[in-house]
Amino acid sequence: MRFPLGEAIVDIIVDDDDFSMPVSDFFPDRDPELIKKHRGVLEPDFLDLATGMARFAIQSFVLRTATMTILIDSCLGEGKDRPEIPVWHQRRGSGFLDRLRRAGVDPASIDLVFCTHLHIDHVGWNTQSENGRWVPSFPNARYLFGRNELNDWLDQLRTGRALPLHARGLEDSVIPIVEAGRADLVDDGYELGPGLRLLPLPGHTRGQMGVAVDFAQARALFCGDAVHNPLQIYQPGLSTGTCVDPKVGGETRHKIFAEAADNGRLLVPAHFRGQRCAHIHAAGDSYEPVFDVRPGES
Ligand SMILES: [Zn+2]
Repeated sequence: MRFPLGEAIVDIIVDDDDFSMPVSDFFPDRDPELIKKHRGVLEPDFLDLATGMARFAIQSFVLRTATMTILIDSCLGEGKDRPEIPVWHQRRGSGFLDRLRRAGVDPASIDLVFCTHLHIDHVGWNTQSENGRWVPSFPNARYLFGRNELNDWLDQLRTGRALPLHARGLEDSVIPIVEAGRADLVDDGYELGPGLRLLPLPGHTRGQMGVAVDFAQARALFCGDAVHNPLQIYQPGLSTGTCVDPKVGGETRHKIFAEAADNGRLLVPAHFRGQRCAHIHAAGDSYEPVFDVRPGES
């Protein structure tokens, strides 16, 4: 799938298009009335009310400008130990790198890999196994990690506070990149290229950042897991059960929705299914998604 962004193009490379979690676990503070009211928008792509499941895609966005190719979030990877999530444990044959090539993107042509945050579904394809070692999957890329995000996770790892699932992701998909000398630690405001700047999006993790795109003809924000599901556009204060600071997550959403509504900025969250991205309209104290971008064939 592909959509234009000014003179750049964005290819959406899906690694898992139907990952489900019980709505009651994932969004413990959801407003059932809002779900009922907006059911026509939320079903079937984002919620399945009959089974009580919230539905997500795990996907990368490849942004190609005149001068560079940037892969944003690297999904799940293959061959990795994830016993806590059986469908992601020791996965094989996902076809992810083939889909990337079919979209016209050779892994060797990627200049930058940026991980919005360091959860396992955003770092997996950073590395692949070669002779029993984890080596970079994108041989010519620099990998950008948020300095605060990486330091927070390394601190959790050192002090034994990281959950085993997260610890494994760091050990097989992040630390090998640092040890190979391929990581650049970056801060809020860092410019990836002309019109491309990192924006802090705390709440889901402490150091999450997004990529704000400000081209002459297009504005967008690749906002990672600041938003998981359009339900949170109707209810911006709604964080997930996995967010480290639910209150700050709500503040982040209010801020990015207000700015997106004012400036016509397209939001590109990491896990939206359906049309994958949305414009935002202000609606009283809240907001509404407008799905007016329809990705076409790559
Ligand atoms: Zn995620």
